[in-house]
Amino acid sequence: MNEYDSNKMKDLLSKEMGFIDTDTKEEADILIVNTCSIREKAQEKVFSLLGKWRKLKIKNPDLVIGVAGCVASQESNEISSRAPYVDMVIGPQTIHRLPSLYKKSLDSKKTIVDVEFPLIEKFDNLPSTSESKFSEFVTIMEGCSKYCSYCVVPYTRGTEVSRPVKDIIQEINNLVKNGTKEIVLLGQNVNAYSYEDEKGNFINFGLLLFYISRNKDIKRIRYTTSHPNNFDDQTYLAYKKIPQLVSHLHLPVQSGSDKILAAMKRGYTVLEYKSVIRKLKEARPDITFSSDFIIGFPGETEEDFLKTIELIKEIDYDQSYSFIYSKRPGTPAASLSDNISMKVKKDRLSFLQETINTLSKNKSKNILGKQVEVLVEGTSSKYSNMVLGRTKNNKVINIPGSKDMIGKILKIEITELNNKSLKGELLVN
Ligand code: SAH
Ligand code: SF4
Repeated sequence: MNEYDSNKMKDLLSKEMGFIDTDTKEEADILIVNTCSIREKAQEKVFSLLGKWRKLKIKNPDLVIGVAGCVASQESNEISSRAPYVDMVIGPQTIHRLPSLYKKSLDSKKTIVDVEFPLIEKFDNLPSTSESKFSEFVTIMEGCSKYCSYCVVPYTRGTEVSRPVKDIIQEINNLVKNGTKEIVLLGQNVNAYSYEDEKGNFINFGLLLFYISRNKDIKRIRYTTSHPNNFDDQTYLAYKKIPQLVSHLHLPVQSGSDKILAAMKRGYTVLEYKSVIRKLKEARPDITFSSDFIIGFPGETEEDFLKTIELIKEIDYDQSYSFIYSKRPGTPAASLSDNISMKVKKDRLSFLQETINTLSKNKSKNILGKQVEVLVEGTSSKYSNMVLGRTKNNKVINIPGSKDMIGKILKIEITELNNKSLKGELLVN
């Protein structure tokens, strides 16, 4: 979501405000940092970065400095008092107001702050991309109303708000007309999508997938992030009926222990999570999964942790975003006593990551020699004369080839596994 917001701010700066890109900060007339406050480290980094930018402003007093995103939304007062040389503080839902905030900041000596949540206004006021890439993010909803006990998102991004169906379809059709092949639907909880149209019909996430897939020029549909509690029959049906929907799903579980899931207020048990996975597999037998994990949540015993490892092996995840629990001020979990040593947390984290790496490697071994379809995403940064293609199961394959293959769907044979990376050869029909 932050990547999406950063790109949109870049579009506003270049298309509506006349700025041009520079690689050196010393040359810049405007510097904006887009921030995330999901874990503590990111927040600390913002203030240290601002300290460095302050020196640039001393040399160039006309430099305009902005802080955007969730740290801006959470710490607006702290920023204006600790770093008064910051000109603009822009919340995640007001990035579209960048041009007017910029104008106001030029006329004012004080920090201009706009961290409101004006519902869906943001999307109606952002420029559309003129040169589409082969893969594009499309935000379908924002915010979260789940209030997990450890998480700041509902407070920094606001509660769940869904975009109108026709706006989403129009944005997608425009992108596809300009050459986009893959659409990645974006939101904090995409499958909590719910929109009432003019006729009073409710459109849920599953139905939205069916509407989007009617455009047959879309070759692949992905989405992130979904929540286990918002899967329904319509979405399972989508996995049966929509071939463009990829066979890989990022479905965060956070922990494999019911006790910890309850303390996290995730709203499901391990069994209920596994039931979602079972139904998805029934609908799409070759589907694979990745997940988010929080390690060292207050009260997590060795036994709880081993339950997470057991679940990981059972589901056979091939990737994870796993992090040590970070206490976020203002969240209910912040009052729980943190009784686990940092050494234990770090050991658990690396054991979990090793376990998933081994599972992922085994899965890569299993596809050696197989013929698969890949969508070519770009050139390889590791090997010259190679491009990167992604299978429907999200495995990245290096293939001999050149730029003109980008955006094409090709049949290849997987020929080599080198440490973690896979290589393939193009099959000529
Ligand atoms: N809505 C999605 C995830 C969005 S936040 C879901 O609930 O599944 C992305 C990830 O950040 C979460 O899945 C969680 O693993 C991690 N995260 C959130 N708050 C955290 C915290 N306080 N400490 C550590 N990790 C956290
Ligand atoms: Fe945060 Fe995800 Fe829980 Fe929402 S569902 S509160 S975004 S972890």
